[in-house]
Amino acid sequence: MSDNKVVFETLYDGYAQSFTVTKQLFEVKTEHQYLEIVETPFMGRVMLLDGVVQTTERDEFIYHEMMVHVPLFAHPNPKRVLIIGGGDGGILREVLRHKNVEHVTQVEIDGSVIDMCKEYFPNHSQGAFDDPRANIVIADGKEFVAQCQDTFDVIISDSTDPIGPGEVLFTSDFYKDEKTCLNEGGIMVAQNGVPFMQKNEITNTYQRLSKLYTDTSFYVMPVPTYIGGFMTLAWASDDESLRKQTAEQIQERVDAAGFETRYYNADVHVAAFALPNYVRKLLVKA
Ligand code: SAM
Repeated sequence: MSDNKVVFETLYDGYAQSFTVTKQLFEVKTEHQYLEIVETPFMGRVMLLDGVVQTTERDEFIYHEMMVHVPLFAHPNPKRVLIIGGGDGGILREVLRHKNVEHVTQVEIDGSVIDMCKEYFPNHSQGAFDDPRANIVIADGKEFVAQCQDTFDVIISDSTDPIGPGEVLFTSDFYKDEKTCLNEGGIMVAQNGVPFMQKNEITNTYQRLSKLYTDTSFYVMPVPTYIGGFMTLAWASDDESLRKQTAEQIQERVDAAGFETRYYNADVHVAAFALPNYVRKLLVKA
């Protein structure tokens, strides 16, 4: 491909972000999806799956910190973590910063994503895939939870959007089986799109999860390259108090953990659960 091409994201009809591309670093049609990695002057390296932005070097920290530290600092003592998807390694990297975490299983459907991200996004995983606490499984997350005997304190579903291989990770069957893998007092969080653009996604997830958990909600964060406004992450547990802790309670755990973050802090943690009225209106039970 000639340099300085412009790549348009294909997630929405009639509305898109574009990137000036100085170099296409890699492309492949894997068994599951079309994977492309490009160099851009503005966002650094960008990975797209089936034409949809998955992660960029410049803004990945926001998403990965919020996907991980909100549940892991809300849980009183997370020792075992399950990651579904997350092939770029950013979620795994952030989970392993929690020294009280003893074991992480990551279930990624497409090994090519892990291989390519190790090579082209080394700062995402920073060696996390080789951590002795990490157990990497190449499989469909839906099939994994359907037969999984292990249980976990926190489950993080970092999947693509509900199109293509990611679609099954937004179904009631998946959520039901997934919950059998969650320990008592556990927390599940999941990538759940941009509500301003994908409002059905948040309503569907709310209706499906609230049939399984006593406390279902969402929290938000702004990821510049997940266009259309802030992104919502689904939150589910059977203990509402886990979601309603004070910044002071969270701060104690942040201080004890002893690592720096670039986006996440205890005040942002608490504020992220404040939902605007148009999003609250999407939380209607079936
Ligand atoms: N942060 C991105 C977002 O919010 O869209 C997601 C990044 S990560 C690259 C998404 C990962 O989900 C990809 O590696 C993809 O291969 C994986 N994935 C999609 N469907 C899956 C499934 N059914 N089981 C396991 N992994 C899946």
